[in-house]
Amino acid sequence: MISGNYPDSVERSSELLRLALPQMAKHSVALHPINYAVWYEYVSGRSSDLKAEIERLTADGRALTEADVARLFKAYVAPVGLETSERVAENARRILRSMEQDALEATDRTSAFDQSLSQWQAELDREANGGAVLQGVVDSTREMSEAMRQLQSRLDVNQREIAQLRAEVAAARSEAQTDSLTGLHNRRSFEQHIAKFLADREAAMSLVLVDIDHFKLVNDTHGHLFGDQVLMAVARVLKESVRNDDLAARIGGEEFALLLPSTPLKGAVELAERIRTSIANSRIRRRNSEQQVGQITVSLGVADLWPSDNGESWFSRADEALYASKREGRNRVTAPSLLSRHAVTGGVNRS
Ligand code: GH3
Ligand code: MG
Ligand code: MG
Repeated sequence: MISGNYPDSVERSSELLRLALPQMAKHSVALHPINYAVWYEYVSGRSSDLKAEIERLTADGRALTEADVARLFKAYVAPVGLETSERVAENARRILRSMEQDALEATDRTSAFDQSLSQWQAELDREANGGAVLQGVVDSTREMSEAMRQLQSRLDVNQREIAQLRAEVAAARSEAQTDSLTGLHNRRSFEQHIAKFLADREAAMSLVLVDIDHFKLVNDTHGHLFGDQVLMAVARVLKESVRNDDLAARIGGEEFALLLPSTPLKGAVELAERIRTSIANSRIRRRNSEQQVGQITVSLGVADLWPSDNGESWFSRADEALYASKREGRNRVTAPSLLSRHAVTGGVNRS
């Protein structure tokens, strides 16, 4: 039995605190004053009975359970005086202060701590003596637990506000990069991405420019609103045709661009050709009307990135290819570095 009187100085008790904490961590016990009192007693080495008992219990390498500690407390530490309970409370306060520094991690611990406090409260209430002695300890630690909960909820509020701000910033950024009619990237975003792609250029990258044929005529014949629907329909085809890493943008009134990382010229031409046929084969009707709109077609220009390229030269080569597609009769794909050319009613220009 220990004397119930803790003669340790502040320095000595702090040292014992440092020794007791790793033991408590090792045995994964909750950081409540009763556990602490047992381990404090153990590391102080004052009670040889307690020491022997703990060593016997942990001889096979197993960790102490809450029930073990409760029993040890009753057997070796329970009959304590007021001074002891104050010291235990003081040390528990220290533990809690260090837990505050870890407040983000502490949510679970706070509730576990509170739970064990309640358990111990119930237990102490049943035992007249122990209950009276440790009531003060329990009260003051409960206060600290409450303070921690408040701290935690302040942190939660802050975190929610930060998360919300982050979401707002992300939404604003995405809005600034989006074309409102089609939902594709806008010209600004396209230019930013070209610069970014060029900065960390990969082995093979290609650029495809797409321009709707005779779009002015579509507008003139069916009205501007219908023209907008055609723009949306073309954008849908583009979006559905590209991979995740690719970027589809509306860079002008009826002009679109596809930025294709990890895509050599051949693959880009094949993609462009799939897009061309897909649009040419779709039949667009006017809403609320059976009136069939004449075939909508697009012309495309493709250029892969050359080592000597900057953004301007790369874009110009794709634009020249697009212009060649227009000149050659529209509804076709042109890639300047492919040699032969073919197709009269559409197909791939290899100019
Ligand atoms: P080409 O085959 O040579 O490309 O002929 P085009 O008529 O498509 O080309 P042009 O540049 O002469 O005309 C483009 C038209 O696109 C003119 C403009 O009114 C229309 N346009 C541009 N932006 C929009 C838009 O947001 N909505 C609609 N409905 N039309 C637009
Ligand atoms: Mg145009
Ligand atoms: Mg056009």
